[in-house]
Amino acid sequence: MSQNQTNEYRIPGLEDVGIPGKRKPINPQKISEVIDVYTAGKGAMIDTNGTLVTQKDARNFNPDQLSQLQNISTSMANNSLHPYHSANQRRDALMPPLAEMRVTVVGLGGGAPIPVELAKCGVEKFTFFDMDVLSLENLIRHPCGIEYIHLPKVDAVSQYLKRQSGQKLSIAQYAEDIFTSMHLRAEIAKSDLLIVATDTEASRFFLNEISVELGVPTIFVGMFEGGTGGEIFAAVPGEGCYCCLAEHIGRKHFINTYVKATRKGDCSSTRDTSAMPGLGVDQGILCHIATRKALDILLKNKNHKLPPVGKNWIVFSICGITNVLSDSLTSIQMDIPKHASCMTCHE
Ligand SMILES: [Zn+2]
Repeated sequence: MSQNQTNEYRIPGLEDVGIPGKRKPINPQKISEVIDVYTAGKGAMIDTNGTLVTQKDARNFNPDQLSQLQNISTSMANNSLHPYHSANQRRDALMPPLAEMRVTVVGLGGGAPIPVELAKCGVEKFTFFDMDVLSLENLIRHPCGIEYIHLPKVDAVSQYLKRQSGQKLSIAQYAEDIFTSMHLRAEIAKSDLLIVATDTEASRFFLNEISVELGVPTIFVGMFEGGTGGEIFAAVPGEGCYCCLAEHIGRKHFINTYVKATRKGDCSSTRDTSAMPGLGVDQGILCHIATRKALDILLKNKNHKLPPVGKNWIVFSICGITNVLSDSLTSIQMDIPKHASCMTCHE
């Protein structure tokens, strides 16, 4: 930083957590690192040695708050502040850390809240696939804000997560078309869970074939046309797959189309929902249900106190789904078994 850049000093990540306020000039020659903490609109600045820079604001804090701020300051300076990964009774009383688990997420538009929540649950390893760039239109239903515009979605979500978590994450990212990717199969093979949050039926079938072949548990999540509700399906190897679901509930027309297609990615379906209307708050409901189902799979065979939720197929009505569920905030749930004539998982 040059000497004349003294008007604004930004610590990546911290601007997002407080109430915005007017920044005070800092001389970087005297203070190499500054943390700018805003509390109830009144700020205090603390240097990396834990020294309160603006004594005037000290009166806004009690001794415990000052001590906490100084600890934050020191931890930031040491690059050792990892809020999602440190021991935390509020989470750890329910479930053990999931630091060793790797979760692959395909689709980081509508599905972006899922790795954000999983990271808060202690998952430290992710693999992201999405070939799109974050555009202005995405922001009304995406965790990333305007500073991530025009980044590939895989980069945007990676950077966002690393900032929120204090960098302690291992993320592999591929801005690639899954139908031609040379990395997809190998990355899914080393994952403990696959999340499919894409917006086309062809991509769901394609990823289902791979996850069945490789024996990787998979969660499919999608919003219905118009954002009135959505569907979550949790597929566990040996217990049925996304194609079994299609067989059981009468989606055979697309199965026939998909089987005949030579270019699977070109198969279109009435269930494709690219760029459809829908609010982030409603999409968030579906993502949070999907995340909760993901935890049920990741915690299997672990000692934990988090009760499992729901059946393996959940249709959730947010504001009433035409011809399916007229009531709002309710669901249809079934445990979908393996289908005897499933083309994908039938042996
Ligand atoms: Zn099947």
